[in-house]
Order: sequence, then C-alpha cells, then structure tokens
Amino acid sequence: MASTVKLTGSADSTEQNVKVTKVYEMFDEQCQCPICLRLFIEPVTTLCGHTYCLPCLKQFLQSNETQMYCPMCRENLSYLQNCTIQINSILKNFLETRYENEYIERKLEIEQGRQESERKISVMKKLLIGNHHISAINSEQINFHRWTLFIRFADDENEVNIGNFIKQITINTAPQSSSSDTQTCVLNSAPYRFTAIALEPFSINLDIEFHTKYNKTNLQTDWNLCFTGIGNQKVIDLEFKV
Ligand SMILES: [Zn+2]
Ligand SMILES: [Zn+2]
Repeated sequence: MASTVKLTGSADSTEQNVKVTKVYEMFDEQCQCPICLRLFIEPVTTLCGHTYCLPCLKQFLQSNETQMYCPMCRENLSYLQNCTIQINSILKNFLETRYENEYIERKLEIEQGRQESERKISVMKKLLIGNHHISAINSEQINFHRWTLFIRFADDENEVNIGNFIKQITINTAPQSSSSDTQTCVLNSAPYRFTAIALEPFSINLDIEFHTKYNKTNLQTDWNLCFTGIGNQKVIDLEFKV
C-alpha cells in the first residue's frame, strides 16, 4: 500500500516537473524584447499589451518624432508623452530571479551604453523631405508632372554630407489607383533623390536607415507629393551622438 502511494506521488511530481519545464521554456521564448531581440531589461508593457525593454522603447519613440506608435501593433502610444513609463515589476522580479547573471550583465551593458552616450556630443540636424516638380503636357494633351523627391540636410547644399549619417532610404510609393501596385525603390548613396512622372499627387512612405555607429532606430515617415507652386518640403529635427 505504502509503495503504491509512493509510486503515484512520483508520477505526479514527474508530471509536475514536465509542466514546470514547459512553463519555463515558454517564458524563455517570451522574454525576448522584439526590438533588441535580447532578454528584457527594465521591462515595460504598453496598454496594447506589448512588452519591451524601457531603453529600447524610449529610443524607438524618440526616433519617430512625428508618430508615436507600438512597434508590434502600431497602436497609438502618444499617451506615453505625458506620463512616466512604469516598469512591469512582476516581470522584472521574475527576470532577475530566473536569469540572474544574464540580467545583471544586461543591466551593466545598458549602464555602460548610457555613460558612453552621455560622453558623446550631440549634433542636431534639420532633415528636409520634400519634392520639386515641373508641369508638362504629353502628346495626348494630358497634363503630367515630372517630380523629384529629395531628402537632404538643411545645412548641406551639395547633399553629400548626409551620406555620412544616413545609410539608405527605402521608398514605397502608395498606389495611385487600385489597379496599380506599390513600388519600392532603395536609395543607397547620397544625394538622396528620386525622379518620376505622375498625373496626380500621391503619398510616399520612407524608411530611413542610419549608419549603425549612431545607434538610431530607423525613421519611418511619409511625404504627400505637392504639385502646386514649385513643390513643398517638411522639416524633421534629428539628434546624432558623435
Ligand atoms: Zn530591448
Ligand atoms: Zn502594441
């Protein structure tokens, strides 16, 4: 009788161990930040339910000054502008216990990174995104526009210096009509210009990738082509640590 009880107990605890191992395996997979792909450090959870390292989320939001959105689901995160992002303390305590040494290492890395970036000098640049255009009439008497998109720095007349900061720009042209597809073009050297012909203005999505040494997340923005006057432009302030 006693041995039966013992046997049952041992089966239960094996089952329990398998369950615990499965839960830990699940956590090991889930404890990776979708931005840096490393173990969460100072984890924060947004209202849409996505979790990131606090330094990663801060950096992501700072690089998207025009729009604050969740990198995973694109939910609006502009409410974070007016409040302190609270650390998810239950998750933080779990991480510190479960991944003790790895968590300490990550913490030291982040602290060293902070100290390094404080030592660096900030360089502010005004990024201009806009277009020129020329109107013309084709052989079928249809009015069209030859437009040139430009991405340049305000203080960089020859548009070459920008290449020291920006690695490449991916342009996605939104469809002009439901029958035409989105077109993608990659500009991988300065000057960053793109010329094409269109009948009507439309929207262009830009994904701007910086050189890795600046440790900046890609800037995603858009531009609505302007076919009135000589065209138009917008200004985005950028900070680089050099
Ligand atoms: Zn992260
Ligand atoms: Zn989200």
